[in-house]
Amino acid sequence: MTAQDEASPELEVWIDQDLCTGDGICVQYAPEVFELDIDGLAYVKSADDELLQDKGATTPVPLPLLDDVRDSAKECPGDCIHVRRVTDRVEVYGPDAE
Ligand code: SF4
Repeated sequence: MTAQDEASPELEVWIDQDLCTGDGICVQYAPEVFELDIDGLAYVKSADDELLQDKGATTPVPLPLLDDVRDSAKECPGDCIHVRRVTDRVEVYGPDAE
């Protein structure tokens, strides 16, 4: 087995805009992944920098940004950033993580 086979499972992140306070903490941590829209709420962005405004839209978490995205979820005042495994949709960071 190569080191790549043992890489951590792929993760994705989504935001529950109903709870977002619009403070922008996530954008400070990971501007590559999060952005505030003109409605004052935070949304995730696609890998090619497109704002994903559909409710519950997810975007992959790039491995180099995992710490920043995890910290965003921990610090989010709205408790509305959800990081989950792609394979089984189990939340690993965020309000529904164990
Ligand atoms: S940190 Fe949470 S509450 Fe603040 S803007 Fe980002 S998603 Fe919204």
